[in-house]
Amino acid sequence: MTAPHSQDLAARSLRSVWHPCTQMRRHESVPPIAVARGHGPWLYDADGRRYLDAISSWWVNLFGHTNARINRALIDQLERLEHAMLAGFTHEPVVALSEKLSALTGHALGRCFYASDGASAVEIALKMSVHAWRNAGHARKNEFICLAGGYHGETLGALGVTDTALFRAPYEAMLRPAHIAASPDARYTLPGEGPGAAAARALADMEQLLQRRHGRIAAVIVEPLVQCANGMAMHDADYMAGLRALCDTYGAHLIADEIAVGCGRTGTFFASEQSGVWPDLLCLSKGITGGYLPLSLVMAQEHIYQAFYDDDLHRGFLHSHSYTGNPLACRAALETLAIFEDEQVLERNRGFAQTLSAALQPLAQDPRVAHFRRTGTIWACDVVFDDDAAAAGFSRRFALEAARRELLLRPIGNTLYLMPPYILDAQEADWLARRVHDVFTAVMEGA
Ligand SMILES: *Cc1c(COP(=O)(O)O)cnc(C)c1O
Repeated sequence: MTAPHSQDLAARSLRSVWHPCTQMRRHESVPPIAVARGHGPWLYDADGRRYLDAISSWWVNLFGHTNARINRALIDQLERLEHAMLAGFTHEPVVALSEKLSALTGHALGRCFYASDGASAVEIALKMSVHAWRNAGHARKNEFICLAGGYHGETLGALGVTDTALFRAPYEAMLRPAHIAASPDARYTLPGEGPGAAAARALADMEQLLQRRHGRIAAVIVEPLVQCANGMAMHDADYMAGLRALCDTYGAHLIADEIAVGCGRTGTFFASEQSGVWPDLLCLSKGITGGYLPLSLVMAQEHIYQAFYDDDLHRGFLHSHSYTGNPLACRAALETLAIFEDEQVLERNRGFAQTLSAALQPLAQDPRVAHFRRTGTIWACDVVFDDDAAAAGFSRRFALEAARRELLLRPIGNTLYLMPPYILDAQEADWLARRVHDVFTAVMEGA
């Protein structure tokens, strides 16, 4: 049970705060956890109870809470410049960050446009695509293709290319629906088929759609390698290469939404690297500031940028947000990139992935679990139930039991997943794996 301090804060929260992604009435029985501080992979509530943040606080944290290096960088930046508008002005953090990110793509995506959250980055990429076609004399190319189960955020434009009925239904009348192509989800591979079969089928479906509709299609938007919100649906890296070829053949932009899968989650800094092709537009957010501050950006290829470069104001990309390129957020992002470099994070993560995968074997082998899978440092499996009644409320029951056992975990439907920060040592990995299995056993046995 929650102790006095936490209870008090949770009660005040429920009187004044409208929490995201929540049916508030459910908090009548289970109050929110009042976090007082964080350190490394741990969050502590007001009474000193701890929780291992095994989903990186909604996939944003990379190097732990109150990271010493990012803290120092931010304190230094606070003394220099907290914010200045980015129209007509520029500053060192935003320039240095753009240069570094561009270099990470071998300068294939050399133009960075900034915003504050993931959904805005998606809106920007969609608008850039349509506007670039319009400037090129193809105003009819203004429709989008997204993937079944795809998730790109919850503002109206982003929701229009999101295939999650739960999030869409109440707003359907406000949305401009996108065309939905089959998902390359590797779980659709049939017995006897090779590993790329589901991706090949999804590409064939995509080609049919493009053949029929290419005169109207501005862009195809996808989450490379892992459709995270769609229950960590993982696919073959060849899919992106095939999709790049289709987009070139049929004249559509390719937008890679790397908001969740970017920043090293899939084993490379950008997920797109594993397919050997670059999209025309790439969205980043979540982990880019190490989980410290809201920042998002769209990286664009030169041909997109040039489509706007003109004497005519109307041909420019006039989109803006008040906090575009905020210096504090950019500085946190620069320090995040410096940590990747100085500490050989991607290499270290490969070792960590082996350690945690090995420790998770008892869960992977459990007969009540199917499709145990991993991409980079994202682990997932699907829990198999006898019937819908047994499955009902699984994710809530699991999250609750996890919190009782010092774990922050929130399954997506029947999919149990881990997306921990990149700083767990072997002991913590072992502890995490054992606890996850304990929680799983307790929930399945109704304890
Ligand atoms: C989280 C997410 C978004 C939306 O980002 P917000 O910052 O929550 O608006 C978009 N696309 C993907 C793939 C995401 O995981």
